[in-house]
Amino acid sequence: MNNFILVLNCGSSSLKFSLINPENGATLLSGLAERLLSDQAIIKIKHNGEKEQHLILAPYDHQSAVLCLVEHLKRLHLIDCISAIGHRVVHGGENYCQPTLINNDVKAAIEKLARLAPLHNPANLTGILAAEAAFPNLKQVAIFDTAFHQTMPEKAYIYGIPYELYEQHGIRRYGFHGTSHYFVAQQAANILNKPLAQCSFISAHLGNGCSIVAIKDGKSVDTSLGMTPLEGVMMGTRSGDIDPGIIFHLINQLNYTAQDVDNMLNKQSGLLGVSGISNDCRTIETAYIEDHNVQAALALDVFCYRIAKAIASFTASLTSLDGIIFTGGIGENSDIIREKILAQLSLLNFKVDDEANLAMRFGKSGLISSEGSRSAWVIATNEEWVIAEQTFQLLNQSTEQES
Ligand code: ADP
Repeated sequence: MNNFILVLNCGSSSLKFSLINPENGATLLSGLAERLLSDQAIIKIKHNGEKEQHLILAPYDHQSAVLCLVEHLKRLHLIDCISAIGHRVVHGGENYCQPTLINNDVKAAIEKLARLAPLHNPANLTGILAAEAAFPNLKQVAIFDTAFHQTMPEKAYIYGIPYELYEQHGIRRYGFHGTSHYFVAQQAANILNKPLAQCSFISAHLGNGCSIVAIKDGKSVDTSLGMTPLEGVMMGTRSGDIDPGIIFHLINQLNYTAQDVDNMLNKQSGLLGVSGISNDCRTIETAYIEDHNVQAALALDVFCYRIAKAIASFTASLTSLDGIIFTGGIGENSDIIREKILAQLSLLNFKVDDEANLAMRFGKSGLISSEGSRSAWVIATNEEWVIAEQTFQLLNQSTEQES
């Protein structure tokens, strides 16, 4: 079989990859190249349940990582299975709301959109260029993280600031994690045995980055992340919403530079900032349960309260609600966080089933609400499968149109 899709997700110093059957999501091989651009660059590969790792050769960049991956794909006789490459691209702006075949214009657009996603789009483009060089005969497709949210109405994406900032500089809310929210919403629709277009959900992707989305008739109508992934609920190291006046206070009264504020809000806030312990939810939960650590308890409380408030506020975007979906590393694994969030939402008739909530961890998906409660599910996300599926579908459509 040669219609597996190689899915690439390129970060500034990392490259995640999976070789996926687009029709059933089966993963033939997956892995991660990390610490790129340093002489400790390493590639970790999982294949047939076996894990291996190898050093990446100089110049230790994304191109070296892709070449190293190609070598291993050849050694494992998997290179001929690949029919196309699907890339996760973080920012697609307003023009890219569909899977897109990559050509020079698309690459130029991704580069231009780097002004809105300076940490992500340049890395995504580097991955595309490296993959093009390594696989010159394969088609490359971009799947944009912002695409799912392009159905948001204007009233949801316009900020309350002068309108020309939107018109001239594209300053508006875009939202992210779109591929993940789309996947779990589709899975929840399958559970309900209804077409997604007839379903309304609130989806909470809770990982290091967190976002909440209101999905009406299968479409995103509002989301908590904004122009950048800093807006919305509190996250691992990101603050989420704060009074913008705090920024001026920090600069004018406490002598912070703009860079200091940027670092503080993006890297030193959130669970890490409030707990003073870690950005990792597991570490904070352990400190809370085993050591009765007060700051850990507060960090969990603030985190859950803010998420519950965001969920409640998104009911304003909907006319019906089939249920809440929890996903992402925290959403899929932390019974404590889910319990706290649902307890805060009793007015909306959410009640957790303790046994089911405890059982739904480590990749298990299912209902965690009790009888008589509005539904709440845990659904393990699989962004890679969506990228593989959409890449495959786009290329199939274009082949059909050509013939
Ligand atoms: P990213 O946004 O980087 O993709 P993930 O979705 O992998 O992040 O989520 C990472 C978060 O998930 C971390 O805070 C981690 O502590 C949390 N997590 C993973 N497993 C568990 C668990 N068993 N219990 C609680 N939190 C967990």
